[in-house]
Amino acid sequence: MRMSKLFVQTLREYPSDAEVISHKLLVRAGYIRKLANGIYNYLPLMQRVLKKVEDIVREEMDNAGAQELLMPFVQPAELWQESGRWDVYGKELMRLKDRHSREMCLGPTHEEVITSIAREGIHSYKQLPVNLYQIQSKFRDEIRPRFGLLRGREFIMKDAYSFDADEEGLDKSYNIMAEAYKRIFERCGLETKMVQSDSGAIGGSVSHEFMVLVNENAENNAGENDVFYCTKCGYSANSNHAVSVLNPVETDGHFDSAKIVDTPDTHSIEELSKFLNIPQSVICKCLIYVVDGKYIAALIRGDRTIEETKLMNAFQGNDIRIARNDEIEEIMTNSGYTAVAGFIGPKGLKNVELIADETVKDLKNFVIGINQNDKHLIGANWGVDVELPQKITDIRLVEENDRCIDCGASLKVTKGIEVGNIFKLGTKYSKAMNAAFTDKDGQEKPFIMGCYGIGITRTAAAAVERHHDEYGIKWPLAIAPFTVIVVPVSDQDEIQMKVAEDIYNKLLNANVEVLIDDRAERAGVKLKDADLIGIPYRITVGKTIKDNLIEFKNRSNGETETITPDEAVRRIIEIIK
Ligand code: ATP
Ligand code: MG
Repeated sequence: MRMSKLFVQTLREYPSDAEVISHKLLVRAGYIRKLANGIYNYLPLMQRVLKKVEDIVREEMDNAGAQELLMPFVQPAELWQESGRWDVYGKELMRLKDRHSREMCLGPTHEEVITSIAREGIHSYKQLPVNLYQIQSKFRDEIRPRFGLLRGREFIMKDAYSFDADEEGLDKSYNIMAEAYKRIFERCGLETKMVQSDSGAIGGSVSHEFMVLVNENAENNAGENDVFYCTKCGYSANSNHAVSVLNPVETDGHFDSAKIVDTPDTHSIEELSKFLNIPQSVICKCLIYVVDGKYIAALIRGDRTIEETKLMNAFQGNDIRIARNDEIEEIMTNSGYTAVAGFIGPKGLKNVELIADETVKDLKNFVIGINQNDKHLIGANWGVDVELPQKITDIRLVEENDRCIDCGASLKVTKGIEVGNIFKLGTKYSKAMNAAFTDKDGQEKPFIMGCYGIGITRTAAAAVERHHDEYGIKWPLAIAPFTVIVVPVSDQDEIQMKVAEDIYNKLLNANVEVLIDDRAERAGVKLKDADLIGIPYRITVGKTIKDNLIEFKNRSNGETETITPDEAVRRIIEIIK
């Protein structure tokens, strides 16, 4: 391909609305253009990258025994009503009506459609196991589309669905997918960590995410997930699912007796602990949440934080948020109190469900809110001054240096980009949608399902997050839009142009994906663009051509060598073998 013909416009500046480096670089280097919020055009360079990612995914999925199909992007509401998700999926599900007023939606995921396909097409255990996949656009009306391709509203996903006769079969299908995923990301030039995760809106019991780990710093904050991991035994989990053993802390307030004391203006745990001169760990914190429209009071030890997904799951909820001040006021009024946030306690709350994190169980002579402003109860004890809620479970966020549940070593935390997610669904969809087969023993049984997603567009963006420098993208070879770019320094120099064309033609003939920068541009512009676009190898034909030498540059490590044109051609052919 000739640069003079390639449809690409590089920009001098980063786009003003981009926060993370992959978004900045993909726009500036001419890979993507925004069409609407969270919706992008994938321009020719991007399309080449996406096709490469897709081809790797296809190859590995096919090798793992999966078969490709393609399901519609628009789905009828009936299927979602059958599965029960029409009412619970929330606003991310883009709903629409056709001309006959039939309700439809844009597919955010395809469990319902695939289950209907299996229901019609698989009748006997003899047809199992089956794994079907597609590479398709998805639409999720994300509340905060951001970070370019990392979190779009429309994006491309590979989604696969396995059907097995029993749990053992599912375990096998799941492991085959996990192995295929590792290979896929490795081939895309991405090191990933497979971590335990919450199953979210997809459902099911067991799930793992594939995380590209990114360091947290000012420029690069694209990792939207906190991943806790053990340096000793390999335990790792998304913060929404991670568990830990706590280090011992003081949990006895050592107050002689229970009494109400004035604690003016102590709205936070920090202020309260300072005011009373006690550790935060002898305070029982009480926070009001709204889960699926219901009020929940969650108790946790003062030095720890609630993990909202865990809390939501404790109530089998689909939606969670912290209560607004006016909602707290409503609860207070209904319960006959007037307290504001910071002074709330569980005692006497009406129409509020209580839940406690395990950390509050061992508190003694502790401090707790009593729904009176500027006052707290000190020296409180469970069963004497306040009742311990019946619902006690782990609803806390793990913190760095907590101990590993498996081996006791200390846990570390890092940021991760979720590029893939695999789930054991079990019978969630097959039962709800009556998708069954006849087993060996003649019994009708629901399919045991698994589902497996990879964000194609997100994976490409994650590769940019991991592989770039101040000059631009450094594509891993396997997913680069072109392997090599030939740059004649001066388009006015006949010899340079002739040699460059010659190298270009030799590479073309050897089926190398090669670009030649034949534009009438200054050398600086051409070299900058080559770095920005991120082609893995650059062959620069300049003045040294009089000695039959060119510059051969490896974009990933920046190394340059002066070699002959023939040697350069030979090396590139060797590299792509
Ligand atoms: P997230 O937690 O990041 O919103 P998710 O867990 O809801 O993602 P899944 O349902 O697991 O997403 O989808 C499978 C894969 O699709 C994800 O692992 C991710 O790679 C990709 N993906 C999901 N949402 C988006 C999005 N908004 N933009 C780009 N890729 C996405
Ligand atoms: Mg996921």
